[in-house]
Amino acid sequence: MRILGFESSCDETGVALVELDAGGRAQLRADALHSQIAMHQAYGGVVPELASRDHIRRVLPLAREVLQRAQVRLADLDLIAYTRGPGLAGALLVGSATACALGLALGKPVLGVHHLEGHLLSPFLSADPPSFPFIALLVSGGHTQLMRVDGVGDYALLGETIDDAAGEAFDKSAKLLGLGYPGGPALAALALQGDPAAFALPRPLLHSGTLDFSFAGLKTAVLTTLRKLEAAAGPEGPTAQARADLAASTQAAIVDVLVKKSLAALKASGLRRLVVAGGVGANRRLRAELDAAAARRGLRVHYPELHLCTDNGAMIALAAAMRVAAGRARPQPAGAFDVLPRWPLAAIDAPAA
Ligand code: ATP
Ligand code: MG
Ligand code: FE
Repeated sequence: MRILGFESSCDETGVALVELDAGGRAQLRADALHSQIAMHQAYGGVVPELASRDHIRRVLPLAREVLQRAQVRLADLDLIAYTRGPGLAGALLVGSATACALGLALGKPVLGVHHLEGHLLSPFLSADPPSFPFIALLVSGGHTQLMRVDGVGDYALLGETIDDAAGEAFDKSAKLLGLGYPGGPALAALALQGDPAAFALPRPLLHSGTLDFSFAGLKTAVLTTLRKLEAAAGPEGPTAQARADLAASTQAAIVDVLVKKSLAALKASGLRRLVVAGGVGANRRLRAELDAAAARRGLRVHYPELHLCTDNGAMIALAAAMRVAAGRARPQPAGAFDVLPRWPLAAIDAPAA
């Protein structure tokens, strides 16, 4: 089965070709991505209208590039997949319209995919794919959730953030430190030079006994610490070392909570496999701490390839392939554009429009 996947839920246009063999093994034949980060940087965040327009500009050239690199003709496709939601309505419509137009023109079936299911299943494209069941830690720009995953489409929410997502905590703290948007990778880079124990920042809900998270208080603590450093410093402001220490301490606080809650979820479920997905899954400190904790306890941790942690078309093509292979979804002839900007994962089986 050859699937062409389109991702356009936010600020990345992603297109990819995934092939699923008879044994159910997924192979990424080609993928292409255009990130709009540079375009939105001047505004300090994603501007929805600009995002939609840029997806329109990028999507067809990217699709051509992918087909050419994979040496696959449009006629050879079995399925066209796109991100149905959640995300920005206008941005989602570009992927949906493109997929439906191709489906209509080629007489091929189309399938809308849940963006988070894409993130969740993305480690199946790695060299060390997981097997079911497992606990999933989904840590992205908009979500922080722990789930029990028993199979494709079998997702039980165990806990989630009650305010900011982990990626948001990285981004907002980075912004306070003047590191631009999105600040996660920049904060992680600055943290390499700093002492993670320099500042004692809060780890909210760490001992709550639940698997929920809260990160909104962290950015307030970062702001307060920064103001104190500024007040104590000369006119040049806090030293580079103090800023790096604050970055390292912030990262340590976020990672600490993510690791402890993931271990608690594994313990409570009796499962021994953890899958990490979403943009924050690219964070090296998170990976190092999870790997160390897992090694001590004889647990396994699976990650997506680094370039598939943030948004991409490959995870969308893959999720579509796995849903079809598992009998969880039936591709439809292309019909009306069908997007769900607000779409909880619990409602994943929402019927097509
Ligand atoms: P969602 O999937 O919830 O709709 P999203 O698609 O915007 O949100 P992703 O693309 O999965 O989120 O991830 C983007 C987030 O990951 C950003 O918040 C970014 O700062 C963060 N991120 C990316 N790389 C790193 C890193 N190395 N360390 C920490 N955070 C990172
Ligand atoms: Mg993004
Ligand atoms: Fe995402």
